[in-house]
Amino acid sequence: MKTIGLIGGMSWESSALYYQIINRGIQEKLGGVHSAKSLLYSVDFNEIAILQKEEKWGELGELMIETAQKLEKSGADFIVLCTNTMHKLSDEIEKNVSIPLLHIVDTAAEEIVKHNIKKIGLLGTSFTMEQGFFKDRLLNKHYIQTIIPNEKQRSDIHQIIYNELVKGIISNDSRNIFLEIISDLIDKGAEGIILGCTEIELLVTNEYTEAKLFKTAEIHAKKAIEFSLE
Ligand code: GLU
Repeated sequence: MKTIGLIGGMSWESSALYYQIINRGIQEKLGGVHSAKSLLYSVDFNEIAILQKEEKWGELGELMIETAQKLEKSGADFIVLCTNTMHKLSDEIEKNVSIPLLHIVDTAAEEIVKHNIKKIGLLGTSFTMEQGFFKDRLLNKHYIQTIIPNEKQRSDIHQIIYNELVKGIISNDSRNIFLEIISDLIDKGAEGIILGCTEIELLVTNEYTEAKLFKTAEIHAKKAIEFSLE
């Protein structure tokens, strides 16, 4: 079994989900009292959120590279960066370690393609919805088109993520805002919805909507299990 190197804490609410899915999955696959071999480096999200807000991506890149290198030195066989937003820096990380990074966009795309979906709605932080690092990779590498919410909706989603979800606050009002946005995207032609922020799946599940949901934390964590057993 390979050792999984998790970069977490962005936020720890979703890192906990990764940890649970990975360990449960390994136990299901191998039986008995098996659990995953893993290293988790969990950062202080406050430091990250301040740098994100100031768009100091150079400093964030250095922090992520340093963290990935610590995991590599400690024996990780591959890296799982437990956040969509910080995949903006995936190229920099990959260039500075010699172990592979399991890319969250590629793992989500692999699932989307299985459903023969060509046009998908994307929900996440403003960085993820508005910048190219997620959408361009989906289109150029996987031929999947993206639809994003309008400006007001994007701002609502971003605020809910940073003011509630990363603090573990789950509210019905916020869920309803997400559900309205999801149905709007479906009306606009989205054939499914990427929950492209690893905390959204703590709020929105198929208990509340019939839309085909692609939960990036769950998909990513499950691929990490497969990869660790290859
Ligand atoms: N976990 C989130 C994501 O998947 C947002 C927190 C962050 O900015 O890293 O994008």
